[in-house]
Formats: sequence, structure tokens, C-alpha cells
Amino acid sequence: MIIDSIQAAIGHTPMLRFTHHHFTEIPEGSAIYAKLEYLNPGGSIKDRLGTYLIKEGMAQGKIKEGTTIIEPTAGNTGIGVALAALEAGLSTIFVVPEKFSLEKQALMTALGAKIVDTPTSEGISGAIAEAKRLHAEISDSYLPLQFENPANPAAYYQSLAPELMEDLGGDITSFVAGIGSGGTFSGVARYLLERDPSIRLIGVEPEGSILNGGESHGHEIEGIGVEFIPAFLEGLPISGFATISDGDGFAMTRKLAREHGTLIGSSSGAAMVAALAEVVKLPVGSRVVTIFPDAGDRYLSKDIYSREEY
Ligand code: PMP
Repeated sequence: MIIDSIQAAIGHTPMLRFTHHHFTEIPEGSAIYAKLEYLNPGGSIKDRLGTYLIKEGMAQGKIKEGTTIIEPTAGNTGIGVALAALEAGLSTIFVVPEKFSLEKQALMTALGAKIVDTPTSEGISGAIAEAKRLHAEISDSYLPLQFENPANPAAYYQSLAPELMEDLGGDITSFVAGIGSGGTFSGVARYLLERDPSIRLIGVEPEGSILNGGESHGHEIEGIGVEFIPAFLEGLPISGFATISDGDGFAMTRKLAREHGTLIGSSSGAAMVAALAEVVKLPVGSRVVTIFPDAGDRYLSKDIYSREEY
């Protein structure tokens, strides 16, 4: 395959099928399908969002030549936006809570971005506030703000969701996916429900996130978990939220690497734990779709595959 831009390598990722043969708890005849989004060129599902945000910003006249893009991010959205901004000749500043992995920050820097760290104790809300402050200070800057921008779910409604439907020939029992901004989950869910309203929706969060009513506290699984309920989820008929402990999420992440060769991050491990819990509840023949959002090598400094406490 010859391409003329790295952007053309985004999307059309493989779908890995897991059956009883891979995980004995999956009933014979049922399957879990994991969309391997870590195989996007920037290493995550957020490459799709980066491309879309820059395209939308340009179409709406919010981005012109010389505009600086500013965005609060755990890292993957920054990498995706930086990839798209590079091609458009735009500069980027990303505001990142300092707890997030050094590798993601190094990758954003490698793509020419400037990083501003905010205190871990202020969470993503602190990064959002700092990004808004910078936006007000820097003239000709654009703040896509993935946490509020309808372009976020729209990116997944338009690119990822049709691929899932096509991959599965339209036959999906449940959609199980992690929730950070909620863009992936809500964009995909709306598309799927328009085609088949019987599809069950299961949101995945780490312990320390509040979707199941738990108390907000820190967690080690990166990329998912919320301090407030994302507005994108409003009105969605969600069947339930799966709250996954760091221990279970990391253990599954390690197992997926060692036994199945998928070098994915901890939000993928958490999604797989939730997908397994879902598939055992369903009738034989069910098809559970989940997402592996990013690559694990961006968490090596956090000993993602070698922590024996998990
Ligand atoms: N997993 C990882 C590793 C992520 O970086 C993100 C985005 N923060 C997600 C899952 C969740 O995606 P979304 O923001 O679309 O809910």
C-alpha cells in the first residue's frame, strides 16, 4: 500500500476475534471482537479525532494559517492532533496533568508540540482550566476542547462506528468501551443504535471514576475515568457501567500481551475484563464488540507489563 500522507494510514484497523479457544470463559459459539486501534500511526484511537478536529476547525474558519492549537489531553489526543497539525503546518500546545506517562509527552514533543504540565492533584479539570487561560492569553489560538466539542463524538460516529458495523456484518449484541471524554463511546453508540436499537451499551471506567456512583479518587489505568459525567452520554440508553480495579485491568493487560501478543495499554485491559463479564451473561452466539484504544509501549516507564503487585 502506497500512501502520500501518514494521515492516510489512520483507520481501517483490524478486528481481533477472541473465542472459547482463547478465553475458556467465553461460551462456545460466542465471541469478543476487539478493534485494534493501537495500530493507528500515532498509536491510538485519538488519531481519528485529531484529523477530524483540525478538518472541522478549518471548515468552520476557526483555524487559519498561523493558528496555534491548544488542547488539554492525557496524551493520546495530543499525539493525534499533533499529527494532523503537522500536515497543516500548525503549531500545538498541549496541557497535560503531570501524572500521565512521560512517553506520551515525549511523543507529542517529537511531533513538534509544546507541553505544559499541570498538577496531578487538579486532575483533568486543572488541565482544562489552564488550557482556557492560555487560549485567552494567546492571540490567534484555537481550543478544540474535546470534552465539550460535538466534533469529538462526531469523529467516532463518522469513522470508527461504520467500520465496526462493517467488520461485524451488522450483527452486534453488545458494545463495551472505556469512557474518558465519552467521545468514542457516545459517537459509536449513537451510530450503532440507529442501525439496531437492541444493541446493549456497556461503559467501562476504572475504580475512582464516578459513573457507577463511586467516590472520585486517583487510579493507575490511564485514559479512562471521569471526575464529572460527560455531557455526551446524555440520553443514551446505557445498559450499565463496568467499574474495573487497577489490579484487574493491569492483570488483563499483562495476560493479553503474554498470551495473545497484543501490546496494548491498560484501558484496553480494562475493556477486555468488562467484555468478558458481559459475554458470559449473554445467550450463546452473542457477539461483544470492544475497543483496544492505545499501545502499551507508551507506558513502559510505568512498568505496565512487569508490575508484580497486579
Ligand atoms: N483509552 C485511552 C488510552 C485513551 O487515551 C482514551 C482517551 N482519553 C480513552 C480510552 C477514552 O476515549 P474517550 O475520550 O473517547 O472516552
